[in-house]
Amino acid sequence: MVESSTNAVVAGIDLGGTKTTVVLCRRDGSIAAQATIATPAREGGAAMSAAASGLVKEMESSSGLHALAVGVGAAGVIDQKAGVVTAASASFKDWAGFRLAADLSARVGVGVVIDNDVNAFLRGEMAYGALIGCTDAVGIMLGTGVGGALALNGSVFAGPRGAAGEIGHTPGFGALPCSCGQQGHLETLASGRSIALRYTERSGRAANGAAQVADFARAGDPHALATFDAAGRALGQAIVTTATILDVQDVVVGGGVRGAWDLIEPPLAKMLEHNMPVSGYPLIVHPGSLGGSSAVLGSAAAAWESLAHSPELANTMKVGSSC
Ligand SMILES: [Zn+2]
Repeated sequence: MVESSTNAVVAGIDLGGTKTTVVLCRRDGSIAAQATIATPAREGGAAMSAAASGLVKEMESSSGLHALAVGVGAAGVIDQKAGVVTAASASFKDWAGFRLAADLSARVGVGVVIDNDVNAFLRGEMAYGALIGCTDAVGIMLGTGVGGALALNGSVFAGPRGAAGEIGHTPGFGALPCSCGQQGHLETLASGRSIALRYTERSGRAANGAAQVADFARAGDPHALATFDAAGRALGQAIVTTATILDVQDVVVGGGVRGAWDLIEPPLAKMLEHNMPVSGYPLIVHPGSLGGSSAVLGSAAAAWESLAHSPELANTMKVGSSC
């Protein structure tokens, strides 16, 4: 086996709205170097790409390692094949339409693959986290919003417009306004921002994010408990629907609200218990195990996959079989 291993690394980049994290990562997922800088989101795509590539080069020179390829998980809707950001939130300047893969590749001098950050999260959990060995899975990020991703037959399935698995914007959960402009989406009950809003509506008491609502719930506040109950049941319903249609058994949940797993999991489990899939195989919902590193490690995994056809590295590649 050509285990050029200990010194062979790729770079994984998690390019978010406020910060950009880079890891130099070995094939086994171990991290040789890691650093984080502020994302210059208001300065445009070229500035974000320059900042990320600058950090990669700095880490290469201080570690003496050279990244063989680069994977990026970025906020926004990403056309993975074209290597282009197709849509982005208003907090980014000149991001939609930016040819990120080509620009970054010219700066770092190796191949670059890009994907959205939720797909990167799922890929990370499958490669190195809670879903090692899984070939089919749903990934859900409960953060400021609710992001979703799908993996089928061992690959992340992005869909023709890069929007497959967008479970946060599925309807049927009441009539509250969603961040996307529509109403009644899962996100209106289960995102971190929504949990704080729903709690304040119920209690008349302000809450500084879902983590604080979780503290209130653990102290016995009935409004906070009811808010998490509604979030967990809605999440369970969306999971049952998605998994039933796709015959997917494994689901991984990450994002900031993952920190309230003790409160989300009981109502979620109850919903799953009462809605067994027709396959007869119970759904398994895994809390993510990589914490804030899932997207950056998933981006590194994508970079390793991009090298899979490289003959001298082929022996170090391993494709997951089944959970
Ligand atoms: Zn929505």
